[in-house]
Amino acid sequence: MKAYSSMSIQYSRGCPFRCEFCDIWISYGNTPRLKSANNIILELDSLYDLGWRGPVFIVDDNFIGNKKRVKGELLPALTDWQKMHRYIFRFFTEASINLADDEELMEQMKNAGFNEVFIGIETPSLESLKETGKLQNLKSDLQESVLKIQSHGMEVMAGFIVGFDSDGEDIFDRQISFVQNAGIPKAMVGLLIALPNTSLFSRLKREGRIICESIGNNTHGMSTNFVTKMDVVKLKEGYKKVLDNIYDSNLKNYFARCNILLDNLGNTAFFQRQVRFPEIRIFIESLFRQIFTRYGFQYIKFLTRNLIKHSNIFAETIRFGIVGHHFHVITREMLKMDRIYLSLEASYCKFREQIKKYQETVKVNSRETIIKATLLLNQSRQNFEELKKKAGKIDADFRNEIIIKFNEVSKRTEDLFKEFERSCPAISLEVRRNPIS
Ligand code: SF4
Repeated sequence: MKAYSSMSIQYSRGCPFRCEFCDIWISYGNTPRLKSANNIILELDSLYDLGWRGPVFIVDDNFIGNKKRVKGELLPALTDWQKMHRYIFRFFTEASINLADDEELMEQMKNAGFNEVFIGIETPSLESLKETGKLQNLKSDLQESVLKIQSHGMEVMAGFIVGFDSDGEDIFDRQISFVQNAGIPKAMVGLLIALPNTSLFSRLKREGRIICESIGNNTHGMSTNFVTKMDVVKLKEGYKKVLDNIYDSNLKNYFARCNILLDNLGNTAFFQRQVRFPEIRIFIESLFRQIFTRYGFQYIKFLTRNLIKHSNIFAETIRFGIVGHHFHVITREMLKMDRIYLSLEASYCKFREQIKKYQETVKVNSRETIIKATLLLNQSRQNFEELKKKAGKIDADFRNEIIIKFNEVSKRTEDLFKEFERSCPAISLEVRRNPIS
């Protein structure tokens, strides 16, 4: 348990909506299946008896998929349990945006000790929402809905997608403005991916646009698995622009969003945490680690502002500071990694083009061409080694992925050269044995 920041339980599976890109309603059904409130209470008792104190993630596809039972059975039971245990747990979950239409539900969630909710907002573009069948997001003003949920003491984390067929080239700026203005510190933005067994996958397959199966990484992943309507280079560049802006190198934009959220949350009793010794230790460690970074100045400014303005929830300010560090690292490293990927691919393309030319001339000028091709191969190997050195500076968590890419591009390069050698085996052998004469 010490290795985890939260524990997880699950109340329901399934979702009443039918978003085109989503596999939840297809895998788990349109009618949510629920545990009894009593079952959930027993699970909370178990966590409590095991010594857990702190955040509990209710890992539902859509926590409010069956509002009647959530409001009538579960939330009253959770509230009673929390009162009995002096609000020792803080809940967070996933829900649809129609949560904002139900004052009573938001109030009940707040009273049960919910202080975070993840919502799939996906896009501020009405055309793209219509295209993807996310009709529940069309019924109200999305930004107002987010601010309303926040005002009930719940931070809104949100998912966003770019790459819908209806997305125009202005979508990237629109996404950045939305995330900033709605005060969503933890915005998870991804490129649209067609997961197997979704309506989106079937449609794109019918249209002959599927390139490959997807592994389902839709956050900070730089590729998609289908032929997009927008030029794919523009899409990727725009996507990188969004990431680079919302998790900017000095985190100014990130902290600005945290400030909007903290101002909007007001003083709700359940947002405050009981600060324990490990958290004080973490705060001291984070100070040492974060002050001397590129975003150190903004970090201090953020802490000072909210120590004055929101001293009662200062622990949350610290938490946002630490989360910001996480997003800063993953975004910067992903962008660095992408630059290395692009250099790797560029180096491979150059090699492929040149080797193609040598293949065409090898019959006329065999020995000289093979020597040139061998030198070219050595040059490519050297380029890869230099890029590998750069990759060595990337955070350890990402290194594995980049090594896989290196091995894959190196193999493609060596295979191309072998193929080239096969077109003139005798001379190649002779050059290998005696490269100088
Ligand atoms: S609301 Fe969320 S869980 Fe439900 S179908 Fe849409 S994307 Fe899936």
